[in-house]
Amino acid sequence: MSILVTGGAGYIGSHTCVELLNEGYEVVVLDNLSNSSVKSLERVEELTGKKITFYKGDILDRVILNEIFEKEEIESCIHFAGLKAVGESVAKPWEYYTNNVTGTLTLVDVMRQHGCKNIIFSSSATVYGEPAEIPISENCPKGQCESPYAWTKSMLEQMLIDIQKADKEWNVIILRYFNPIGAHKSGRIGENPNGIPNNLMPYVTQVAVGKLEHLGIFGNDYDTPDGTGVRDYIHVVDLARGHVKALHKIDENIELGIYNLGTGQGKSVMDVVKTFEAANNIKIPYVIKNRRPGDIASYYCTPEKAKEELGWVAEYGLREMCEDSWRWQSNNPNGYEN
Ligand code: NAD
Ligand code: UDP
Repeated sequence: MSILVTGGAGYIGSHTCVELLNEGYEVVVLDNLSNSSVKSLERVEELTGKKITFYKGDILDRVILNEIFEKEEIESCIHFAGLKAVGESVAKPWEYYTNNVTGTLTLVDVMRQHGCKNIIFSSSATVYGEPAEIPISENCPKGQCESPYAWTKSMLEQMLIDIQKADKEWNVIILRYFNPIGAHKSGRIGENPNGIPNNLMPYVTQVAVGKLEHLGIFGNDYDTPDGTGVRDYIHVVDLARGHVKALHKIDENIELGIYNLGTGQGKSVMDVVKTFEAANNIKIPYVIKNRRPGDIASYYCTPEKAKEELGWVAEYGLREMCEDSWRWQSNNPNGYEN
C-alpha cells in the first residue's frame, strides 16, 4: 500500500516524502511542477536511498487521477497541492479558487470512487483570521480571511468536514500550519520561491547570500515586546513529521481531527534577524518600513492538542531553523537551478 502525496515536489511535500520513506512507507507523488522542480524528488531519493513513483500532472485532471488510483494501491492521501501566494491570490482569485477548491473536490471525488477515504489536508493558521485569543487553540473560532488564498483553506476545511459528516468511512485530518521555515539538515532540499520572496525567512536568506540588498521590516510599532510582528515559526522537518503522526492516527480511524502545528513559541522579526546573524555569523542589513497591510501583531498557537492526540511535538528551535535555512540557501543560491 502507498501514500499519495499531492504537491510532493514542493517545499513541505518534499520534506514529508523524506520522513515517509524513512518510516518505510511507499510514496506516490502527483505534482504539476507549477511551483517546484522534479530535482527535489531526485534529491529525496538520494537522501533516503529509496524510490518515489512520480506522476507529473494536475489534481484537476480526472484522467491522471483515475490512472493513479487504478495502477497504485493508495491507502491514504496527504494533500499539499495548491497555490499558496497570498498577494497573488488577491490579483488572481479565480485561479486560486479553481486550482485549490475545484482541484481538491476533484481529487476527493476520484478518491471516493476508488474507495480511498483517508485524507490529510494542508490547512493554514490564516483560517483563524484576526484571532479571538492568543495563543490560538483549535477551539478558537475561524475568522474573516484576509485573502482568497486563506478563503480557499477555510472553505476546503468546511467542505471536508461536511463530506466526512455525510460518510463516516472518511478519515479527515486537517493540519493548520503556522510558519514553516528551515530545511533538511543535509542542505539538499529546501524552500525555492519564485522571484522576490514574500515571506520573511527566504527574504533573509536571499539578503544573506547577496541577492537582495537589505531586509525591509514591516513595522516596529506593534504591541509586541520589541514592536515587530510575532509569529510561530516551525521547522519544516518537524512539520513533516507531524504528517507521519497524522497517518498513524488515521490507522486508528479518527474520522475527523483538526490540529495546529506550531511550536507554541512566538518569535518577533527582530528575534529572527538576530538569531540568524548569531547562528550563521552573517550581518543582515535591514530598514524599518511601514506595516504591511493585513498583518496582525502576534500570531502563535498552542500545540497541546497535537501533543496529546498525535503524540507530536516540535523538536527544533529557532537557531536550528536559521542554521538549516542558511545551509540550504548557501549551498543552492539558485535553488534547484544549479
Ligand atoms: P509549494 O508551492 O512548495 O508546494 C505546493 C506544490 O503543489 C508545488 O510543488 C506545486 O507545483 C504543486 N501544485 C500546485 N497546484 C497543483 C495542481 N493543481 N496539481 C498538482 N500539483 C499542484 O508550497 P508548500 O509551502 O510546500 O505548501 C504546501 C501546502 O501547504 C500548500 O497547500 C500550502 O497552501 C500549505 N501551507 C503552506 C504554508 C507555508 O508557509 N509554506 C503555510 C500554511 C499552509
Ligand atoms: N516580514 C517582514 N519583512 C518581510 C517579510 C515579512 O518584516 O520582507 C514580517 C511580517 O510583517 C510578519 C513576519 O515577518 O510580521 C512573518 O511574515 P511572513 O510573510 O513570513 O508570514 P505571515 O505574515 O504570512 O505569517
